[in-house]
Amino acid sequence: MGRWRARIAVEGATLRYRRGVTSTARSIGNATIELVIGDITRESVDAIANAANEALRGGGGVDGAIHRAAGPGLLAELRERFPDGAPTGTAVATGAHDLPARWILHAVGPIWRGGDQGEAEQLAGAYRSCLRLAVELGARSLAFPAISMGIYGYPPHPAARIALATVGEHLREVGAPELVRFVLFSEETYERFADALGELT
Ligand code: ADP
Repeated sequence: MGRWRARIAVEGATLRYRRGVTSTARSIGNATIELVIGDITRESVDAIANAANEALRGGGGVDGAIHRAAGPGLLAELRERFPDGAPTGTAVATGAHDLPARWILHAVGPIWRGGDQGEAEQLAGAYRSCLRLAVELGARSLAFPAISMGIYGYPPHPAARIALATVGEHLREVGAPELVRFVLFSEETYERFADALGELT
């Protein structure tokens, strides 16, 4: 994945570059929502979100990748500061240890159980908690993975819609962080987010 990024937000446009970077951006006031395909552990934004579980002790998917890249200090910090983990729909902040970011926001998304168990509100809560933590910490840029869209099985289209609607609402109300980037691991997930971004009012 190239490190070169779009610096200019082009409303609703999908930009394809020679080095294979695909990105889409949309402005909301002075802030920007950006979609890219990539590996979130390599992002040099101020804060990256992790799709964690309630135990906050690492796991598979993006959680495993973040723990491997951050090093054992991350697990030690989580054990010490959050002995009881965190409930679904919330997030907690730690240092980023060996990652290029400054903070990791460990968000606990819901496990998909058919959609009538409060999953939508919990998923929105996981994103909202990260956005609030980022503002409290003074992070100017924040990267998200597709929370709950892997092992937790949330159907892609509603999950992407909730993610973008929650970020859009927060940015309209608060105006920060100035950059929210979704770092998506596959073309398929990227396309679901691109569709949902197009639908965002
Ligand atoms: P959950 O348990 O919340 O579903 P997963 O880690 O299983 O979390 O999946 C969440 C999303 O993160 C999936 O779309 C998965 O493909 C993606 N993912 C896995 N590894 C990475 C990574 N290194 N960077 C960004 N996204 C990743």
